Amino acid sequence: MIHQYKNNGYDIVLDVNSGAIHIVDDPTYDMIGEYEQKSKEEVISDIARKYPQETEEDIREAYDEITQLKDQKALFTPDPYQDRVIDYTRRPTVVKAMCLNVAHACNLSCEYCFADEGLYFGKKAELMSFETGKAALDFLISHSGQRRNLEVDFFGGEPTLNFDVVKQLVAYGRQREKEAGKHFRFTFTTNGILLNDEIMEFANQEMDNVVMSIDGRKEIHDRMRPFHNGDPTWDIIVPKYQKFAAMREALGKQYYVRGTYTRYNLDFAKDILALADLGFRQISIEPVVAPREAPYSLRTEDIPVLCEQYDILSREMIKRHGTPEEFNFFHFMIDLEGGPCVYKRLSGCGSGTEYVSVTPDGSIYPCHQFVGKTDFCIGDVYNGISRDDIVTEFKGCNVYSRPKCRECFARFYCSGGCSANAYNFTGNLRDVYEIGCALEKKRIECAIMLKAAYREKGE
Ligand code: SF4
Ligand code: SF4
Ligand code: SF4
Repeated sequence: MIHQYKNNGYDIVLDVNSGAIHIVDDPTYDMIGEYEQKSKEEVISDIARKYPQETEEDIREAYDEITQLKDQKALFTPDPYQDRVIDYTRRPTVVKAMCLNVAHACNLSCEYCFADEGLYFGKKAELMSFETGKAALDFLISHSGQRRNLEVDFFGGEPTLNFDVVKQLVAYGRQREKEAGKHFRFTFTTNGILLNDEIMEFANQEMDNVVMSIDGRKEIHDRMRPFHNGDPTWDIIVPKYQKFAAMREALGKQYYVRGTYTRYNLDFAKDILALADLGFRQISIEPVVAPREAPYSLRTEDIPVLCEQYDILSREMIKRHGTPEEFNFFHFMIDLEGGPCVYKRLSGCGSGTEYVSVTPDGSIYPCHQFVGKTDFCIGDVYNGISRDDIVTEFKGCNVYSRPKCRECFARFYCSGGCSANAYNFTGNLRDVYEIGCALEKKRIECAIMLKAAYREKGE
């Protein structure tokens, strides 16, 4: 299977199954398009008619090069994984990553909050106790098999509302990792309101990554991410984020600023560039996932304008490449060299199997997006997994179990999309969220084009 497209002056051919990428000229591009459909002589005469300036000798040579690439398994390569998938679904469950919801409470009132302003559809605010957090880390260690590096994301709601417990849990984790032969990689995600020097210093010492939430331009951010009383928050968080990001850059530590775009800012490339202009170098802005009836939710008719924004963004990134204004956009940072492993390429985030979310009372869910949907609770940190049926269902989620993914050119980068979005929009874990797919495919196309452009600029 191949995928052909033109973007920013490049004629691009992706050989889906091998991952090989070819940047070609127009005649070769068209020839590849016809190669499997017509006989050699038909293709050659079509191309000669369409490109009279090309000599027959050159056309024949290009045709033979395509055949060579096919023989070398760099074009029209058959799918190497399809028949092996059944074995992956039988693999043992090894938990590698955990989202610890240390606070089901939040000091903000974001309009699009999937977590019901941090409460996750519970009636009242809830903080995780140290005891529950300890049991969660113990659960992770005991379910992690031979895996050494274990990821723990302190999440909420807003985790700084329960930061003493975060600190205690990091100390506990550091003690346990030595005994257990593990290494914890801690992360935390914050809305920035309570961020202070002490938290920053602690995070710089202990956290492998920090995620700072911000939506971009001040007016966009303040519209969607106010305090409960409606007061704006952008002016409060930006100076802290700038300081935090600068500290982490100086220490060579990871961070990223992360936002959400909605129907209110369909020109979201401006928000990404606004964040870059504030000095942030690691940026992620994602499409909102919201009920169809929400006024800010994205609609099918928005797709062309949103795709154009990714084009605008990628062209600007090429301009800034190699300058002090250069930045990374998380969703263009796909691994074009084959990804970390076959499992990951086929089943993505690993929700419900390798990755789980734990609530303040110790309940375990397949991921943070399922928290509060009690039908998806798979157990608790004290008694372990009680719903193997749900775990098996998630384990079976991969690009081949989703009919729409099987023939999708993006499948090995996207890995079958987000189960939570699929479920929220279609009621079926094995379906896909169509708007998300269109945007994912566009981002992958831009990411491939960017690689080609950077290479040309002499990366
Ligand atoms: S900061 Fe996060 S948890 Fe709090 S309301 Fe906003 S999106 Fe929800
Ligand atoms: S883009 Fe959509 S159809 Fe394609 S692999 Fe991802 S989820 Fe599946
Ligand atoms: S199911 Fe979706 S929201 Fe949950 S971890 Fe995976 S990608 Fe993220």
